Amino acid sequence: MQNRLLARFVEERLLPFSPFYRALFAEHGIRNGSIQRVEDLARVPFTTKGDLAPTADDPDRPRRFILQPTRELIGQHWSRRKRLGLVAKALLRGKKRVGADLRREYYPIFMTFTTGRSAQPVPFVYSRHDLDIVSEAGLRLCETLGFLPDERGLNVFPFAPHLAFWQVALGAMEVGNLMLHTGGGKVAGTEGNLRGISRMRPHNLLGVPGYIYHMLREARVRGQRIEGLKTIVLGADAVPAGLKLKLRTLCAELGSPDVRVLGTYGFTEARMAFAECPTPDGTSSGYHVFPDFGIFEIIDPVTGEVLPDEADGELVYTPLQGRGTTVFRYRTGDLVQGGMRDGPCPYCGRTLPRISSRLSRATSVHSVSLKKVKGTLVDLEELGRLLADDLEVEEWQVHLRKKDDDPHEVDELIVYVAARPGTNEAALEDRLRSSIQSTCEVRPNEFRFMPIPALLERVGMERELKEKRFLDTRSPA
Ligand SMILES: [Zn+2]
Repeated sequence: MQNRLLARFVEERLLPFSPFYRALFAEHGIRNGSIQRVEDLARVPFTTKGDLAPTADDPDRPRRFILQPTRELIGQHWSRRKRLGLVAKALLRGKKRVGADLRREYYPIFMTFTTGRSAQPVPFVYSRHDLDIVSEAGLRLCETLGFLPDERGLNVFPFAPHLAFWQVALGAMEVGNLMLHTGGGKVAGTEGNLRGISRMRPHNLLGVPGYIYHMLREARVRGQRIEGLKTIVLGADAVPAGLKLKLRTLCAELGSPDVRVLGTYGFTEARMAFAECPTPDGTSSGYHVFPDFGIFEIIDPVTGEVLPDEADGELVYTPLQGRGTTVFRYRTGDLVQGGMRDGPCPYCGRTLPRISSRLSRATSVHSVSLKKVKGTLVDLEELGRLLADDLEVEEWQVHLRKKDDDPHEVDELIVYVAARPGTNEAALEDRLRSSIQSTCEVRPNEFRFMPIPALLERVGMERELKEKRFLDTRSPA
């Protein structure tokens, strides 16, 4: 099925209508019709974040990735049979209808943006046809998560032109759930979200991990009971196993025992998200992906060589259905341990391929010069996972800065921690120091303990769309 969809997608959509890929294929001598099977993808060069990013010289670069059909391009590239189909349709249903259908299929009506920490945001546009796909992907997402049609939900993903909010909103409408979309902490405030919970009594709660934890902790402080909660769905950020446990414990204290905490994986360039299915505590099914919507490859991040599905490597994504902004063989930069598995899911029985949930985003690897001699690569996400996983750490922030704010000095790594009340801070610091050193091979210069409200202020909880867990105040080298 993927071979057939891929061949058609390249032949009828990508090559005729994408200015970027038409040029790229011509440059590499890839002729129309020569991509017939998934294995043929290896002939196509990768697309990276850098190819899409607008530059000072060329601010319009993202436009080249938008499929842009014209009468001339259809005439040049579509097969005689396909063109005759268009003519027949015009005769039967009118030219106007043909035009309206093409417009529905291709004309951009919606957009989201990438959210890189440093890079310029890149717009991704969607046609009506693409939004139908987001809805269908959302329906599948909700079904994978185990939502039932008569359940209620509360969506606290931040209201923004980012994928997460819209994927959840459209998915919930498609599955037929009554869902309140509050816009998250920045829009409704924790006060408003907690009131939403007490009025709605939702079965399902969806949002960014840091904010959901903050909101439920706030409920505990206020003595609010939350009963009947079944599933918490986390997205748009890493989901450490320890945080899942912390959330489950917190929910039990609030009055909802046996809450399942599930992760999702989505990215702007795929224009959809994938989910874990319900599993027993401490296990993960991996993210169930949709083989009719796209192809995932696992590659060696250094050589670019295609690896077997179950290998550790970088995820590369190729869509099979999209219009609007379309990437092809896109390097996500996300490294996965344990690759992808075929075969029925041991938990839900679905036969969709599943991506291992041990994911780390390549953008989170930062070079840090802790000595004057050479830089060390530090995976900040791994460091964050260690902090978020610790049951005695309530809130945290990692700060990279130059010693004395002198650009010629060495880098310093400061860890801010708000500990759970009653914690022995010296013992916690010792434990964190040794686990950080053994896992991340880096030695923080300093640990600073502070009360929860002060640290919430530092990370900008309820003020920012996403909390500032990593602060880098070194000037760009
Ligand atoms: Zn499953």
